Amino acid sequence: MTQSPDHPELLYVEALKTDGKPMYTIGRPDGKPLWVVIHDMEKTESSGCAEWTANYFHTGAGGRSVSSHYTADNDSIVQCVLLRHSAWTVGNRPGNNRGINWELCGYAAQTRTQWLDAFGLAMFSRMVPIIRSDAAKYGIPLVKRTIAELRAWTPGVTSHNDLGLAFGGTDHTDPGSNFPWDVFMQMLTGGTAPPPSGGDDDMLCQQGETGPKVQALQFVLIECGADLGPAGADAKYGQATANALGAIVGDSGQFYGPWQWAKLFAKLAQVKGGAGVPGPAGPAGPQGPPGKDGLGVGDPVTVTGTITAS
Ligand SMILES: [Zn+2]
Repeated sequence: MTQSPDHPELLYVEALKTDGKPMYTIGRPDGKPLWVVIHDMEKTESSGCAEWTANYFHTGAGGRSVSSHYTADNDSIVQCVLLRHSAWTVGNRPGNNRGINWELCGYAAQTRTQWLDAFGLAMFSRMVPIIRSDAAKYGIPLVKRTIAELRAWTPGVTSHNDLGLAFGGTDHTDPGSNFPWDVFMQMLTGGTAPPPSGGDDDMLCQQGETGPKVQALQFVLIECGADLGPAGADAKYGQATANALGAIVGDSGQFYGPWQWAKLFAKLAQVKGGAGVPGPAGPAGPQGPPGKDGLGVGDPVTVTGTITAS
């Protein structure tokens, strides 16, 4: 049994073709990972799912060139592609080359209740520390991104479905419309971050504003060690809040949006004893020719067509 060099607590089963060559792209040709990507395996909940799928990638026995960084079920996570390499799973170049891809045990057709059964919650719990660690390593904010944000190369958390809608090359819809994103994101952020949002608008605020969004920001600033003066977290975005934010994110502090959030999150991880955290990734350069097609394991749909990245 091989330990994962990325996460020594995980088993590493390399995704290989039947001829022994890697079933993934060596390296990250378009730059460091931007997105944590959720897929499902289209397999019934079973504690053998992660191992079965890792073995499917390892032997290439399915005859398809597919892989994923991680496979997950309720009692284990297996790493199949190292983080510094690009897995073949999304069917478009941005998703493969910029993604940290996860295959979860389950079906895209599952109901919310089915995702939130004991099996699903155990699987999510196992994933949380790994995702947090990877996100900290690459400066990926634990925020669910919109299609527009993906197209703007905003780092964060997303799905196979949304990467397909953003960049084409696939019509997969996993992990399905009932995936419990609210619960999943709440578990990932652990309550120390602002609440998950459907878009940046939920997060934006600026000096002069008042209200719960401002107060949430102030709580995080205080957790980062900022001194907001005698008023503390008074829900008013005044000069003390701007100064405290500016000192951490390196600007005037008069405006709070996703990029400030990413820097603040990195600082918070640092303060909370996390590893050294790089800043958020910059926008990607122009995209080259199409990448490898990928398929979800057991997904019935064939991926074809040209990949566009605009
Ligand atoms: Zn998928």
